[in-house]
Amino acid sequence: DLAPVSKKPKRYPTMLSRQWPYAQRHRSLNKAISIIDQEINPYVDQWEQEGQFPAHKLFKILGNAGFLGVNKPVEYGGLGLDFSYSVAVSEELGNINCGGIPMAIGVQSDMATPALARFGSAELKREFLQPTIMGDIVACLGVSETGAGSDVASIKTKAVRKGDELVINGGKMWTTNGTQADWMCLLANTSDGPPHKNKSLICLPMNLSGVHIARKIDKIGMWSSDTAEVFFDDVRVPCKNVIGQEGMGFTYQMLQFQEERLWGVANILTTMEKVVQETINYTRQRKIFSQPILYHQVVHFRLAELQTEIELLRSLLHRATALYIKGNNVTKLASMAKLKAGRLARELSDSCLQYWGGMGFTSDVLVSRFYRDSRLMSIGAGADEVMLSIICKYMDTLPKK
Ligand SMILES: Cc1cc2nc3c(=O)[nH]c(=O)nc-3n(C[C@H](O)[C@H](O)[C@H](O)COP(=O)(O)OP(=O)(O)OC[C@H]3O[C@@H](n4cnc5c(N)ncnc54)[C@H](O)[C@@H]3O)c2cc1C
Repeated sequence: DLAPVSKKPKRYPTMLSRQWPYAQRHRSLNKAISIIDQEINPYVDQWEQEGQFPAHKLFKILGNAGFLGVNKPVEYGGLGLDFSYSVAVSEELGNINCGGIPMAIGVQSDMATPALARFGSAELKREFLQPTIMGDIVACLGVSETGAGSDVASIKTKAVRKGDELVINGGKMWTTNGTQADWMCLLANTSDGPPHKNKSLICLPMNLSGVHIARKIDKIGMWSSDTAEVFFDDVRVPCKNVIGQEGMGFTYQMLQFQEERLWGVANILTTMEKVVQETINYTRQRKIFSQPILYHQVVHFRLAELQTEIELLRSLLHRATALYIKGNNVTKLASMAKLKAGRLARELSDSCLQYWGGMGFTSDVLVSRFYRDSRLMSIGAGADEVMLSIICKYMDTLPKK
């Protein structure tokens, strides 16, 4: 049966369905994620073709079920659980048959909002956090620019104080959810001081005069996720829209990145497992030289090796998460996990695609979509080399300037 894999919904065991180290309470979240089978996977092929998914409609469904604020405060509509539950949900979202939609959900739930939840004023949380958690509005994160991606400190977008307002000029690049978003968690320079102390995170409504969506970017993967280039031309926002302390934006964003990276690792783990399983299923039923492809030792040994790597990465993720929820700084472990996830996703998608032969080169199968989508893991949210630099910093091996 060579029916397109993406049309055959199948569940793979995630941490929610495992005994250790997650408790019964984690597994109880699992039931509501039938949303994936009913509201998402049946439409993924269509949304991939259309180059966009309906963010407002889908986020409302996820918001009603509580999945957009798993570790956010109950008073703002969250479930009030710790970050291990967000990781558990992220793993489960890996059952979506593409990378773009989970990434867009992750931006809404765990990438654009951690700093706001932790440092934002009550007024800002009511205006931006609560409706984001409820799925009433769509969020995006504006850090990267055309001239500054890996080197976040060198961003050029400026927010200059004029009375009670900030006047914003500049632009953002690669903004996930950018064409559909109602607000952006924007990183901008609010003074001329040293680059790690002159930035602020700002809640920026996207319907303000002077916010221009320049284009939707065409990409090799993550098709169902819209990616925008945005310009700001004398955009005025009240100074009270600054999250926490002015000048602390760089530090807040670095903290926010920890959750983003752990969330991303959790999400891709399930997809990798799913691709290995689909490859086992396919190679078991397809015969070459009078025996199933799978029975050639090079094939089943390779798949066993990849599965072992997945389990190692899972252990690292769970260890980092367990330390994180106890209040430890897990920057080194999170960076290692993100680096390994990017490397492994590339290796795994290439190896598995090979065993599908010509079928792997078609657009109809999950393995080819994963091959395209997963390439982003080594680039987005800090490239592999940025992760290596952070790890080296913690190993004290970076040459002193
Ligand atoms: C589909 C997609 C969605 C995205 N979504 C968002 C989003 O929602 N919000 C947001 O703010 N950003 C987003 N990004 C941006 C993403 O985080 C950046 O692309 C990433 O940080 C890399 O920045 P860059 O593209 O400017 O590459 P550059 O900074 O130009 O780096 C290019 C390459 O240089 C190499 N490099 C980097 N540092 C070093 C080093 N120290 N030593 C040696 N080599 C190095 C790496 O190989 C890197 O890939 C998204 C990107 C994509 C493609």
